[in-house]
Amino acid sequence: MSGRGTIGILGGGQLGRMLALSAHNLGLKTRCFDQAADAVAGDVTELHVDSFDDPARLDEFLDGLSAVTYEFENVPVALADRINERVPCYPPPGALRAAQDRVTEKTLFRSLGIATAGFAQIDTLEQLKVAAANMGLPAVLKTRRMGYDGKGQYVLRDESDIAKAWAALVRPPAPSGGAARGSASAGGEKAEGSLAAGAEAAPANLILEQFVPFTRELSIIAVRSVAGEVRTWPLMENTHSQGILRTSIAPAPNAPAALTDQATGAIRAVMNHLNYVGVLAIEFFQLGNALIANEMAPRVHNSGHWTMDGSITGQFENHMRAVAGLPLGDCAMRDPSPTAASAMLNIIGNMPERKRFLAACGGRAKLHHYGKEPRAGRKLGHVNISAPSMRDLNIAIGELRAIIG
Ligand code: AMP
Repeated sequence: MSGRGTIGILGGGQLGRMLALSAHNLGLKTRCFDQAADAVAGDVTELHVDSFDDPARLDEFLDGLSAVTYEFENVPVALADRINERVPCYPPPGALRAAQDRVTEKTLFRSLGIATAGFAQIDTLEQLKVAAANMGLPAVLKTRRMGYDGKGQYVLRDESDIAKAWAALVRPPAPSGGAARGSASAGGEKAEGSLAAGAEAAPANLILEQFVPFTRELSIIAVRSVAGEVRTWPLMENTHSQGILRTSIAPAPNAPAALTDQATGAIRAVMNHLNYVGVLAIEFFQLGNALIANEMAPRVHNSGHWTMDGSITGQFENHMRAVAGLPLGDCAMRDPSPTAASAMLNIIGNMPERKRFLAACGGRAKLHHYGKEPRAGRKLGHVNISAPSMRDLNIAIGELRAIIG
């Protein structure tokens, strides 16, 4: 198998698929790696189906690749390091290391002067009680690793929640007295490991965060080239329901320039510190006129999907440009009018007939269908829409929401 000049993508879900589609428009070939034979990137590019555990099969995947990137942030760091010895792995493994652990991530943010909620590392029930008393409630107890879409977390509202949260997030010890470890992923990286409190108990690997009474959730995405050039898309406002992103709007409505400057400064600082290559996302809470960083994702991000149609260069294309060592594209809004705005709506669980989206909004809505089988809570596609003003955008969003249901 020869793939000189081909870019490898770990993960063949919708993000891998959209990365591959953008790469192919630039004349770049891609090869996705996934454990599932029906991974949807396989519809549009070469799909290498294997387990991450077998180094020989990994070598086969790497054969002839010029660079490797990934679509999910839980790629084992050891695997990324091993790849990086053979071909450049972008974003660099250090970004995975920082983003996979909420304590490491928040410590990095703070070291760069980026505000976060107060937090404490929690390994025992006793530490949780002390931290809750010191921090005050409400607070949020989370697993340090592997949490996503609000999973692996528990809001503590009063003292009686402490024991409940502990029971919910910490596994009881194995009956034999052996270790009830969380599933270890390929490469030996620690996954969401946890044990009950006890003499031989391993650390619970949790974090307690102050509850942030935010007014809204915002995010920023940016891309950095191999040469260190950074380009940033406009700040975005995100709305979630049941822990899943539903809608992103850009530019974030009524955001003072100072807010955008804070977000831009933060993402630049993180990227430069990590010698980052590719697209990075940082999610924030807005509290008054300040931003509190919650987490980052070292990959293309759901809140940036609107850029495919609303900005001059979309996040998938710019990520592949960066990974391939090509010049970066302009991230400005495609419509240069200062009132222009764009939105992305996720299609989750159920896919309405595609012609309904195509007929909506005078034919201006852009459907991105992932080709997946419908299943409750599954992201099946998204629809992008742009408008000359926020008022027009809100009308279009209403029309699209009525279709999505
Ligand atoms: P996360 O997995 O950290 O992205 O959290 C999922 C969601 O839980 C966020 O989008 C927020 O809506 C909420 N959340 C997480 N952490 C906090 C916090 N410290 N204070 C308030 N809400 C939070």
